Amino acid sequence: MDIYQKALKLHSENRGKIEVKSKVRVRNREELSLAYSPGVAEPCREIAKDRDKAYEYTARGNQVAVVSSGTAVLGLGDIGPEAALPVMEGKAVLFKEFANVDAFPLCVGSREVDEIVQFVKLLEPTFAGINLEDISAPKCFEIEKKLKEETNMAVFHDDQHGTAVVVLAAVINALKLVDKKLEEIKIIVNGAGAAATAVSKLLLDAGAKNLIINDKIGILNKNNLEQYDPLRQKLIERTNPQNLSGGLEEAVANADLFIGLSVGNILKAEMVKKMAAEPLVFAMANPTPEIKPELALEAGAAVIATGRSDYPNQINNVLAFPGIFRGALDLRAVEISEEMKIAAAEAIASLVGDKLDYEYIIPDPFDQRVVPAVAFAVAKSAVENNLAGLEISEQEIKEKIAKS
Ligand code: NAP
Ligand code: MG
Repeated sequence: MDIYQKALKLHSENRGKIEVKSKVRVRNREELSLAYSPGVAEPCREIAKDRDKAYEYTARGNQVAVVSSGTAVLGLGDIGPEAALPVMEGKAVLFKEFANVDAFPLCVGSREVDEIVQFVKLLEPTFAGINLEDISAPKCFEIEKKLKEETNMAVFHDDQHGTAVVVLAAVINALKLVDKKLEEIKIIVNGAGAAATAVSKLLLDAGAKNLIINDKIGILNKNNLEQYDPLRQKLIERTNPQNLSGGLEEAVANADLFIGLSVGNILKAEMVKKMAAEPLVFAMANPTPEIKPELALEAGAAVIATGRSDYPNQINNVLAFPGIFRGALDLRAVEISEEMKIAAAEAIASLVGDKLDYEYIIPDPFDQRVVPAVAFAVAKSAVENNLAGLEISEQEIKEKIAKS
């Protein structure tokens, strides 16, 4: 049986992948009257007096809604909310297994920005965090922006920011191998979608100075500004310092780092040969990378990374989102900021330590150190940037994360 047949069987045998389980037992009258009426009235009264008590008496503080419109699902595209549900259930499984976060798959029957925003806003009494998932660009940018402005939940679009955090971690370590500095290198990001936009922004916020974005219509420059939404227009102001025009071929010349978040097989070996000495090639289009890793290496790439598990250096978002939410939830963070994301990336990068190698620039997704390290870095950053809902010492952060 191939993997797809096996997966179908797993899903049908279990009728999906998640369920809601009770933490308390209800086997007799007393247990019933504590978990439910009349006893339950007392926590209700307490929370009615002070809404923050919901963190103490309910599961809200550990609950994340995984919200999707099903418009950009995996590499499958716009398959609709029902068909997106297996992915969102899977995300909930990862949240639970990796970080003990209770995540609920909520596929919404709308593709309108304002409807989705309104739907998510109304969830705030029940959820402390929102993981937006597989919502197509550019609507995902607007939805996220509005939710950040209009709610106090930790809002995170994983396809954008999870990817950005893991890419930054990998870039930090790959640069050590070739002895180059983020501030000094030339970066070409291919694609200008959800992931590419967030990766570009995070690299710039982390110190990159020379970054060029190329998409289907060519290099993003000040002359083609009006074709883009406001978020990408703002990004163009920070990229392409020489205001280059042309396409991938022009953009990639002398670049130290290629980051592909676009489509398969568009980076040619000839182009890699024209990159700077010891070039880094991150070809992350799934399932077919922008260039076959073997070809990139043959053409002189020093380090390759992809989105795939059958090559070294897999850029896997599971290195980021579980720990990020663990840290944000434990500190009752009202936002997941750029600083928190950079702290997460540095924590992931640091775990590689002395074992750093051309085929080991980021930890394995099953490395047990990852979630606590990321959670701690994110929580500490939330406190430092006044985004935490708790006043708490470093020692207390560690204890809290260990208990969660
Ligand atoms: P997306 O929002 O659809 O973005 C894709 C972008 O690529 C769009 O801007 C698209 O332009 C552009 N594009 C299409 N053809 C191109 C070409 N020939 N040259 C340059 N740009 C081109 O999708 P996404 O979520 O950002 O994901 C992009 C890719 O990265 C997918 O293959 C995804 O699986 C992969 N990815 C991998 C990871 C990972 O490995 N961890 C994480 C995230 C994403 P138009 O909109 O004009 O078509
Ligand atoms: Mg996704």
